Amino acid sequence: MELLLDLHPDAYPLEGFRRRQLLDWVYGQGAGTFDAMTNLPAATRQELEHTYLLNPFRLIETVRSADGSVKYLFTLQDGRQMEAVYMPYLDRKTICVSTMVGCPARCAFCATGAMGFGRNLTPGEIVGQVLAVAGGEDIAPREIRNLVFMGMGEAMLNYDNTMLAARILLHPDALGMSKRRVTLSTVGIAKGIRRLAAEDDLGIKLAISLHAPDEETRKRIIPTGQVNSIEEIMSAAREYQDVTGRRITMEYTMLRGINDHLWQAELLAELLRGLVSHVNLIPMNPWPGSDFESSTEEQIQAFYDLLEARGVDVSVRRSRGRDAGAACGQLALKRPNAHSGGAA
Ligand code: SF4
Repeated sequence: MELLLDLHPDAYPLEGFRRRQLLDWVYGQGAGTFDAMTNLPAATRQELEHTYLLNPFRLIETVRSADGSVKYLFTLQDGRQMEAVYMPYLDRKTICVSTMVGCPARCAFCATGAMGFGRNLTPGEIVGQVLAVAGGEDIAPREIRNLVFMGMGEAMLNYDNTMLAARILLHPDALGMSKRRVTLSTVGIAKGIRRLAAEDDLGIKLAISLHAPDEETRKRIIPTGQVNSIEEIMSAAREYQDVTGRRITMEYTMLRGINDHLWQAELLAELLRGLVSHVNLIPMNPWPGSDFESSTEEQIQAFYDLLEARGVDVSVRRSRGRDAGAACGQLALKRPNAHSGGAA
């Protein structure tokens, strides 16, 4: 049965007034069933019920962090499981969504990478995370105004589904998010960065998880052959900026004794010269079985100071949800058979 959420809002099955009513039930009210859509004729509801699946998830559990972040664990229709993270701030509500079950990028510091790759999520399974989390938090889906594609998976390796999901998120008849509040993160797929630059009507923000300024260290951190060299990534990043004029965020997970040497800060500053960027230094978030540990506070400060002295726009990002296993690099399923069909 087709998942209704996989459809672009312009392709919804009803027309005119009824189409808008249906979209409002789905995205405005977060209706969990067709039956709840009381202003649609009963026959229409029945037809929808027989043709479309409305909810692609079953909620397995939520894990609440002391800082208010909540990790949501879902089972999909095929029995596989994935996670999303809700992060309420005083002035905004943010969600971090997954684009895959597992991840083929296998970043060495990341619990998701250690799971291996399961499968790509469909557009509706990506967008549906917003609806499911809003339902779990008892808020309207449109109250969630900020979204990052930084959960499980490498979004650029599920490019088409992620782009359709982004278009649904931004569509005024669906979730109506602002493009300035949606960020796509990639570990360095140059082709994807160039394709994103060409989607000029979309206008979402780009973050690149660089993690190292030298090839040897980067290969140690991200051993997969699917990502490009630093030179290719930087070339694509410059092209992206030439075309879009948008600032790029560079994510840099601080790994003790691996990528936190001051010569690497020098090299990073050199690499970023001429690019309008902001560097996020992220202390590594621990998870059981990881071979890495976070840089010390002193080393992070020294790295930060050197970048700042070289004129780099930099900040240290403290991840939320660490105690709930919901922070960057910690998303992995802790239940037996969680990754039922995956490659690893
Ligand atoms: S950090 Fe992101 S890209 Fe790397 S393995 Fe984890 S989920 Fe995949």
